[in-house]
Amino acid sequence: MRGYTGKLLRINLSNRESHIEDIPEQLMKNFLGGRGLAARYLYSELNAGVEPLGPDNKLLFMMGPLGATAAMAVSRMAIVSKSPLTGCIAKSIVGGNFGAFLKFAGFDGIIVEGKAEKPTYVHIDMDKVHILDADEIWGLDTEETQTRLRQRHGASTKVVCIGPAGEKLVRYATILSDRRCAGRTGLGAVMGVKKLKAITVNSVGPLSVHDPQQFKRLAKEQVKDLKVSPRRIQMTNFGTSYMTLGFEKMGLFPVHNFQEGHLEGIERLGEEEFAKIKVKNSGCYGCMTRCGQERQVTEGPYVGAFSEGPDFETIWALGGNLGNIDLASLVAADSLCDRLGIDTISTGNAIGFACELFQRRIITTRDSDGLDLTWGNPGDILKLVEKIGRREGFGELLGEGTKRAAEHIGKGAETCAMHVKGLEIPAYEPRAIKGYGLIFATSNIGANHMYGRPREEFAGKKDRFADEGKGEDIARAQKAQAVEDSVIQCSFGAATRFTPELRSEFLVAATGFDEFGDPTYLDQIGERIICLERLFNIREGFSRKDDTLPARMLTEPLKNAGPATGQVIRKLDTLLDEYYDAFGYTRQGIPSIEKLSQIGLEWVVQDIERFVK
Ligand code: SF4
Repeated sequence: MRGYTGKLLRINLSNRESHIEDIPEQLMKNFLGGRGLAARYLYSELNAGVEPLGPDNKLLFMMGPLGATAAMAVSRMAIVSKSPLTGCIAKSIVGGNFGAFLKFAGFDGIIVEGKAEKPTYVHIDMDKVHILDADEIWGLDTEETQTRLRQRHGASTKVVCIGPAGEKLVRYATILSDRRCAGRTGLGAVMGVKKLKAITVNSVGPLSVHDPQQFKRLAKEQVKDLKVSPRRIQMTNFGTSYMTLGFEKMGLFPVHNFQEGHLEGIERLGEEEFAKIKVKNSGCYGCMTRCGQERQVTEGPYVGAFSEGPDFETIWALGGNLGNIDLASLVAADSLCDRLGIDTISTGNAIGFACELFQRRIITTRDSDGLDLTWGNPGDILKLVEKIGRREGFGELLGEGTKRAAEHIGKGAETCAMHVKGLEIPAYEPRAIKGYGLIFATSNIGANHMYGRPREEFAGKKDRFADEGKGEDIARAQKAQAVEDSVIQCSFGAATRFTPELRSEFLVAATGFDEFGDPTYLDQIGERIICLERLFNIREGFSRKDDTLPARMLTEPLKNAGPATGQVIRKLDTLLDEYYDAFGYTRQGIPSIEKLSQIGLEWVVQDIERFVK
């Protein structure tokens, strides 16, 4: 076995046992790795209706076939489960170093089952697995946890862990590796309910590949190209912060909880401003781009605040979305979210929801524990972040996510809840780039900007305001993302410079599987993954009615958004029909039997017959 280790570590926390099993070669060929392979295992092993925050849910950590090799920006890790936030399949991709060292230890992935009786962590020392008590680190934040575990097992120990938010089951709690987050869909709460505080690994490389000479040649070419690539250099210099001002100008940047598209003073959140407090770069294993921007506040009320960020999404979520242009407060808020272990996107979106309720007088300071939720009030934003992460007071309700919070509050609060299938919408205004609207509506994990990207609309090659004619492009974008998440390559094209052909060459050189040399074979893997994720949701009762967007996007013309002003998503039904046609689904969004046979999923036909009424 090359590229892959071919081994999976299965850990049962209920009986504190673990064992190693082989991954069948055909599964790798059919699902590639990462997100795809994890979805395949989850689908087969989870019964429909399992409680996400119960012992029967499973949590999968899965690497891809290029991870831990000499190729650049391919050592990320997929984490997959059933989401406590949405009830759908959950996936999030995390960077850092843990995944590469998991492979060096001999594992392509881990499946965590059951639930420990008391706080626990798992230590992997090469191929030896120890299930240990975590009483002393339970309650610590993610920084303290990683520091403590490195003191115990060695400075080079790699860690994934949760913070207090995961322990307290905040429904959008994260899992951290170094300062990198598996941010979306609440995977940290799944770890928390299992009383699993962390997994640590000590191991040494390297990992062998099928054709070392060819692989070395490809890796050399990739590095040569990256060295001079202007896009790579821009990412190294600014991370994703360079996107803010340009997107705001395009009307893509939601402001005041998606009520408008322009914020006075936004230039204070530009990349050059963030660059002034940059300390150094950081990054994931085997990536020369090192897009992480370590920043430290040097003056004012947040002096000393330090974070590896904020990235573009967080600048939006805790900044522009809340009318907050205090740059230093964003560094502090980003750091606080990471330490507590909560998703900055869902947190900012939930606070934006609360601010709009405050604006509309649906809630008052009596509901918000006295916090003044006027737009652009950084001090109280930070206090609310802390309350959410610790599930205290008003934070307890917001920690349930905007969908559940709105249902609880009533009085029309649901019109201010910006989510799809329960997952809060990220930093892109769907009315200003309608391909993203269709991606958010149809994503099997809820509104997620990493479930395909409408690249041609961003580049101006396709009309981003067009009301129809997007289904095929978006189906293609989602399939491409599924492949990226399974390889697993960094989704910043600037960091890999992969063409489909180059990626295929890398995959064949790593694994020796000639099938991967054909980009159309990989494309079909992408389709298979999306289809299986959809089937997972269908089994859980999701259908076309859930492939939608908040009413605001469908009925209220966008205000104050430059060239996007007045835009609204007029024809979501048409877009859905186009998208279902492109995938070969019925008009109810159900994969047809013919389609399932065509893409090698005939074994799920019985589920369709059982669950589709
Ligand atoms: S570009 Fe950034 S996110 Fe991507 S692999 Fe490199 S360091 Fe990680």
